[in-house]
Amino acid sequence: MLRPNAFAKVAGPAAILLALGWTLWLWPAHFLWVYPASGLLFLWFAWSGEREIKYIFLFLATAAGFVLPNLSPQGNSPLLMAGAIAEVLCLWLLFYALSSFETSCAAAQERADEAGAAAAAKVRGLEDELARYRLHLDSTLARIRDKGALSAAMHDMGSASAPDEVKARLETLLRKYFPGAAVELRSGAPRDFADHWVAERKIPLLVRNSEADTRFARGQFGAEERSFMALPLYLFGNLVGFVRASAPEPDRFKSEDLRGAELACTLAGVSMENIYLYDKVREMAIKDGLTGLYTHRAFQGRVEEEILRAARAKVPFSVIMADIDHFKSYNDNFGHQAGDAVLKAVAEVFSSGVRDIDFASRYGGEEFAMIVTGAGRQQAAAAAEKMRLALEARSFTFGGKPSRVTASFGVAEFPADGAAASQLVRAADERLYRAKEGGRNRVVAQ
Ligand code: GH3
Ligand code: MG
Ligand code: MG
Repeated sequence: MLRPNAFAKVAGPAAILLALGWTLWLWPAHFLWVYPASGLLFLWFAWSGEREIKYIFLFLATAAGFVLPNLSPQGNSPLLMAGAIAEVLCLWLLFYALSSFETSCAAAQERADEAGAAAAAKVRGLEDELARYRLHLDSTLARIRDKGALSAAMHDMGSASAPDEVKARLETLLRKYFPGAAVELRSGAPRDFADHWVAERKIPLLVRNSEADTRFARGQFGAEERSFMALPLYLFGNLVGFVRASAPEPDRFKSEDLRGAELACTLAGVSMENIYLYDKVREMAIKDGLTGLYTHRAFQGRVEEEILRAARAKVPFSVIMADIDHFKSYNDNFGHQAGDAVLKAVAEVFSSGVRDIDFASRYGGEEFAMIVTGAGRQQAAAAAEKMRLALEARSFTFGGKPSRVTASFGVAEFPADGAAASQLVRAADERLYRAKEGGRNRVVAQ
């Protein structure tokens, strides 16, 4: 509601009151038409909200309504008296109407104020909630960023191709996560009290403040180790090492740091296990379990590679096929274990009979295939002859009796005896057959 200023509030009604008083003093006969002006004055007070003055004025106006008609020159006429009473009644009615209107306005205002206060409280509550939500969002985003970086680092660790590479990447990851902290990877048995603590309990160790930690005697940790973490490194369920991180200030590592580091160590262990398993599977696919020589499949791959290389360099290479003579008799007379021992011994002779750049494989059963790189038929035949002599010179004992083992060899050269792997192997095989036909324990190269 529009409120007049203090001066207008007092000066306005005072001026009207003076004017009315003056008029009534001079012309009391005009009382009946001057009196309604007091209604206007009353309205003014009601509008300006001056409740006390309003009551005083109502009292004065009522009193004047009864007194003034008696002072008028017409005397105390019943008509004038009735008019005065009617006007006083009207003034009271007006007062009543305005008062009830004011009351309802005040109630409405109060309700509006209450609703406003409730709305303001709700807004404050929502703002608080929003602030909390923002805080939560920020920390969640930070955690997601951390997790993203961690997952990238984990992926990086998982793509390493050697266990040492995994360890180096784990160390880099932890250094990145705990900048300024000392990080150390230890392989092997526990070396100090912290390693022992971890090894005995099989759980990671977190020391927030080494000077206040009651689990350890004072002075066990160094001055630079106020904050300390030690974690176990496992490989196939065996404890193989420890990861340690330390910082000179207390409370540097929190429990979520320990959890993150533990996760990194677990993943490093899994990555190393994967590398070992992968290497093992690969080796199983290309290496023969009994003799340790390459398998037939590996031989096929190597021949193809050798053909490409030799064709490009225009340098020949040779294949030697070898078969143990009367091998069946060792099995039949002395059992399969004796047969296996012969196979191992022969494999030894053959693998030491070729150079490092050459290739020796167990072709199948008691047959062997060798690749002699950069060598023609004659040079390969000479190598085969050396192997034949070496095997022949080796002494074996079967059933308590000394014995000899011999083998027959067939040699073929790329590209003269075959431009494709199958042709080359068939040529070497045919010569091996002729060596057998010719009486065994010999080399046939043409
Ligand atoms: P030859 O001089 O004509 O080559 O006679 P051989 O007895 O060596 O030839 P044959 O092919 O008749 O016999 C090969 C035997 O090798 C048959 C099989 O029992 C045996 N053999 C194949 N693989 C293995 C193995 O891994 N271990 C053992 N102990 N014996 C094997
Ligand atoms: Mg044989
Ligand atoms: Mg055979």
